[in-house]
Amino acid sequence: MSYIARILPMAEDAAQKNHMDRIKNVTLEVGAMTGAMPELLQECYKEAILGTLLEGSELTIIPVDIMAACEDCGCTYAPSKENDYRCPKCHSLKSHIIAGRDVVIKSISDH
Ligand SMILES: [Zn+2]
Repeated sequence: MSYIARILPMAEDAAQKNHMDRIKNVTLEVGAMTGAMPELLQECYKEAILGTLLEGSELTIIPVDIMAACEDCGCTYAPSKENDYRCPKCHSLKSHIIAGRDVVIKSISDH
């Protein structure tokens, strides 16, 4: 519920700024690291939008894999048990996560 609760005001805000009075679709990017289950998000969404600007809209979920950027050679890779969470090019452990750790609004649409 917490992801939806955080996303809804942002989506409403964006809709108002774009002068949309009715929203048909909200597309979310959901990172693998969040542990958020698409089915649960859908259920929460349906209840949470009742009585809001977003009532009746569809939720589209785009799963996003975890990606890391190596701080030594700059390459990006998917950290996993197979590569021991190290950069596959230079084997550095110094990296930061650049995708897959959050739920973000990709787009909202009124048609
Ligand atoms: Zn590297």
